This record gives sequence, C-alpha cells and structure tokens, in this order.
Amino acid sequence: MAEKNNLKQGEFFCPVCGKGIFDGYNSLEECECCGWRNDGRQTDDPNFARPSSNVHTLNESRELYNKGMSILK
Ligand SMILES: [Zn+2]
Repeated sequence: MAEKNNLKQGEFFCPVCGKGIFDGYNSLEECECCGWRNDGRQTDDPNFARPSSNVHTLNESRELYNKGMSILK
C-alpha cells in the first residue's frame, strides 16, 4: 500500500477500500484491490445508482467491502 505522500498530483485513493490508487477523477480504471470502477458520477454522488460502471452505489459498495463481501455481484 502506497503512502499518502507518494500520491502524484490528481491521484486519489479508492473511495471504497482506501487502498487502490486512481490516476484522476473519472478515469474509469478498475481498483486493483476491490474491483470498483472509478466512476466520477459515483464520486460526486455516493448514492448514484444506474447507469453506472459499478453494480452498486458507492455507499453500498463500501458497506459490502467492509463486510468482506464482493462488490461485483
Ligand atoms: Zn478499491
């Protein structure tokens, strides 16, 4: 896991697991730790549902992740 001060400009930690690093807002990359897709609409609104690149809202994904469950189903 990278240290916070190793982040380059614009990079941020995955809002679901806090471990993966994304290049920037709405990059649509997949988190290598939890599989969440970096969907800017969900970053803006954690309750944003469909259409989204993710199965669950950001809030739901966080809950599932915290329970140790997959956020991909
Ligand atoms: Zn993640």
